[in-house]
Amino acid sequence: MIKKVISIILLILTIISLTACGEKELTRYQSEFIMLFDTSTRIVGYAKSKAEFTKYSQIIYDNLEEYHKLYDIYNDYEGINNIKTINDNAGIKPVKVDKRIIELLKFSKKLYMETNGKTNIAYGAVLKIWHEYRTKGLEDPENASLPTIEELQKASQHTNIEDIIIDEKLSTVFLEDPLMSLDVGALAKGYASEQVSKIARDRGMHSALLSVGGNVRAINNNVTTNEPWNVGIQNPDRQDENPVFKVVKINDGSLVTSGDYERYYMVDGEKYNHIINPDTMYPAKYFTAVSIICKDSGVADALSTAVFCMPFEEGLEFINSLPETEAMWIFSDKTVRYSDNFKSFIKE
Ligand code: ADP
Ligand code: MG
Repeated sequence: MIKKVISIILLILTIISLTACGEKELTRYQSEFIMLFDTSTRIVGYAKSKAEFTKYSQIIYDNLEEYHKLYDIYNDYEGINNIKTINDNAGIKPVKVDKRIIELLKFSKKLYMETNGKTNIAYGAVLKIWHEYRTKGLEDPENASLPTIEELQKASQHTNIEDIIIDEKLSTVFLEDPLMSLDVGALAKGYASEQVSKIARDRGMHSALLSVGGNVRAINNNVTTNEPWNVGIQNPDRQDENPVFKVVKINDGSLVTSGDYERYYMVDGEKYNHIINPDTMYPAKYFTAVSIICKDSGVADALSTAVFCMPFEEGLEFINSLPETEAMWIFSDKTVRYSDNFKSFIKE
């Protein structure tokens, strides 16, 4: 009950813009809500009435909230076994979970293989250490410090993705190594956005742009113009007067960016971001941002994290080998590089 009230209050923020258009008399609406996946969600779309758009926004909110609870690694929710429950039972017992968790884990194992181990949801033991040091460092910047190589090495012994035992028949997950833990931060937001946009589409939403903290998924094109959606890529340089780095055209697909400019802490004047390269156990520092364009937003999310951890040449070859997948790399000196066809998506 309380949940419903909260979501409805949030949806009252719906803004009607008056660009009614053409014979179909569709109106552009926008809604926004906070709290899910630690970020804000924005929906822009066309509908025949505010009531219709509100219905779709509510469907998206309700489903995203369910995914958020299922994929949470930090909080417990009454009556739900989530990823945290699986972690809490590492080495103890299999945990019966919702199909949506099984599906996420199967997807993650597949992407682990495809990214050559760069995006590893079983990397929780190491990520947890960095998370603790980052949190402390942000609270008390004067005494910010780095984990020791020994503690990182010790934790990295407990990051084997093969130790995630999935029993699809029983719908259970068991972490065989008691010292391992799952961290799905690299792809859960994108995966959930993909599933939720499918649900909204099946329920009749046919022209919308869903952005979960910058993780963008377009449902079809912009029906009023029959053109792709224009989506801004954030400028990693926050001091720059232009907050948008590039605008890209997205038609029924996704745009996801991983960057070092939002979550990081400083030690001795050096920046330590939240994406950890499994090969070094340290934050990846090849680029300041990597943006991926491809159809599926779960794949885009997993790839953005993986490519962020690859040297440019390796990432370029990797992305160019994938069908209908493009990337843009922004280096800290502002140099920009593109995969073979990324430029065709840029709006001039
Ligand atoms: P964001 O969360 O800012 O959208 P990403 O999609 O790149 O950015 O995901 C980063 C998150 O993924 C980190 O906060 C951490 O929880 C997790 N993570 C960091 N490095 C890795 C890695 N190499 N493999 C899997 N997960 C990672
Ligand atoms: Mg990612």
